[in-house]
Amino acid sequence: MIKGIFFDLGLTLVYTPIAEDTVKILREMGHDIELEPVKKAYYLADQYFFTYYPGIMNRQIDSFFPWYMDVFARFLGVDIHVPALTVEVMHRFPPRSRWVLYEDVMETVTALKSQGYILGIISNWDNTARSVLDTVGLTDYMDHIIISAEVGCQKPLMSIFEIALYRSGLKAEQMLFVGDNYTDDIVAASKIGIHAVLINRYPEWNREKFNCPQIRSLKELSGHVAKLIQIA
Ligand SMILES: [Mg+2]
Repeated sequence: MIKGIFFDLGLTLVYTPIAEDTVKILREMGHDIELEPVKKAYYLADQYFFTYYPGIMNRQIDSFFPWYMDVFARFLGVDIHVPALTVEVMHRFPPRSRWVLYEDVMETVTALKSQGYILGIISNWDNTARSVLDTVGLTDYMDHIIISAEVGCQKPLMSIFEIALYRSGLKAEQMLFVGDNYTDDIVAASKIGIHAVLINRYPEWNREKFNCPQIRSLKELSGHVAKLIQIA
């Protein structure tokens, strides 16, 4: 029986509108490119880094951003001046300085809360996590907030999930964890018996197939929980 639903934060509940900002800058640089291919190129760059350089996206952004933008440009496939674009993005729209909720979040957490689920966050994030949660209005919905910078361990280590179980009093089989990163979120949570579901918002863009339960919108979460209850 699922009693608690915990979420990853970045790219699961919140995102940074870097694609929108990039389109503006590219237009100023003379490239009239639509938002969709830019979003897709960032999505693929994220997947690339998650897969080949696990953990690096949790470091200070300046330590990998120029390199990340090179990968982004490769996926975009347009001949652009990457260093100029990188400097513009960094200075005018510093990545990670603004976070916004995906449009399906509020409706989902409100519904789950009213159905009596214990809700929580398990996130690899620095000390700004709580202010991000406050800004987007999620703090009051969350019964437990477990942030890597506060607890001293990060996903995919089992210990961060064990802290969440301990604090919430839930058994692993009573928790459902929702995340966007196959390795850090899904494989890691499943290892200790937590039910895990991948939020895969753009399955048509994925280059690899994931062998796990998946949803493409948080609105599918209630149906997913109902299925788990039927199986139990
Ligand atoms: Mg994430």
